[in-house]
Amino acid sequence: MSKTKRIYLDHTAGRFTDSRVIEVMLPFMKLLYGNPSSIHSFGQETRQAVEDARIKIAELISAERKETIFFTSGATESNNIAIKGVADRNKDRGTHIITSSIEHMSVLNPCKFLMTNGFKVTFLPVDKYGFVNLERLKEELTDDTILVSIMYANGEIGTIQPIKAISQIVHTKNAYLHVDATAANGQVPLDVKGEGIDLLTLSSNDMYGPKGVGALYIKKGTRIKPLVHGGGQERGLRSGTENLPGMVGFGKAAEIAKKELLTENKRLKNLRDKLIKGILDPISHSFLNGHPTKRLPNNVAVRYDFIEGESILLSLDMMGVAASSGSACTTKTLEPSHVLREMGLKHEEAHGSLLFTLGKQNKEEEVEYVIDIMPNIVKRLRVMSPLTPKELKE
Ligand code: PMP
Repeated sequence: MSKTKRIYLDHTAGRFTDSRVIEVMLPFMKLLYGNPSSIHSFGQETRQAVEDARIKIAELISAERKETIFFTSGATESNNIAIKGVADRNKDRGTHIITSSIEHMSVLNPCKFLMTNGFKVTFLPVDKYGFVNLERLKEELTDDTILVSIMYANGEIGTIQPIKAISQIVHTKNAYLHVDATAANGQVPLDVKGEGIDLLTLSSNDMYGPKGVGALYIKKGTRIKPLVHGGGQERGLRSGTENLPGMVGFGKAAEIAKKELLTENKRLKNLRDKLIKGILDPISHSFLNGHPTKRLPNNVAVRYDFIEGESILLSLDMMGVAASSGSACTTKTLEPSHVLREMGLKHEEAHGSLLFTLGKQNKEEEVEYVIDIMPNIVKRLRVMSPLTPKELKE
């Protein structure tokens, strides 16, 4: 493989937009610009396009009707509306919320904000694979609990939570279940009815749609308040003139995901397992983060003792490979990821972690290239590291 070739293996941090999605968006940037709320024909044609997109998203997650889908500006906003909107509307019934300690910051921080406003929040621990402790969930759930928010899958470690089992526990009480499916959507089949989900966060870019648009599924009858007040768009839940090209593009991305998901899922799993084996087996003191099988099809999260993930990342970048040392949202702080620490990894173990996330343009030869170059990268860095035992340096 040519050294100038660039290999992108950081799809959790950002994805390209599918060209079929861009094609359907373009007319809505050039020709179809009427405000969907206007009653003239320009508005009517764009309204139809927004509603068609809503149907496609509802179909992707087996939602009962399109009116359960609310467009937002992305996963962060959907999570904020779900958590703060449900909390505010239901505080007459209770003030207790449960979440997990490995959620994304857009779930953890709204929960922490609510703690400064009279709510109590329980952060459930996880085991060494990142699975939420279901016994603790049962114990913590009370008549005062109004909401439980657990992610479908964690993008940093790949582990997929047993959402149906969680939903059955949550619904023994009067609480709602919110699920952040950002890392999972477009990768695994989602079924809000079958899995008993009351609110579900979706992100367009995570399924090769445009950035800056997301959605929140809200089961009919769920008590929730808006955070943004204005002209009353999205049935009053999320005011603001519609992001027309974004919504249409998201709809197309959902349609493509529904059609191609199972085939792509299988292809990615093969690449994933080949990469995991190829970069762990030949290298001693190397480990997989997250569960070996109950993990996202595109997720290869590993760690190497005695060296830092950032150093591996830089070496890989020099060889044309883009990966990540963890959550793109927190890498700027250089603090080890809270997710890895909560799984019980020591500070230095968490620091030695590396994340490859595959996407639909990745080919087998790219995975083989990474498998080829990793042993030397790790060896060279271990030789330089003061933490490496002498016998490993020889
Ligand atoms: N939830 C999860 C699980 C995520 O991985 C992310 C980051 N992609 C978000 C929420 C936030 O997404 P965004 O920054 O697009 O709003």
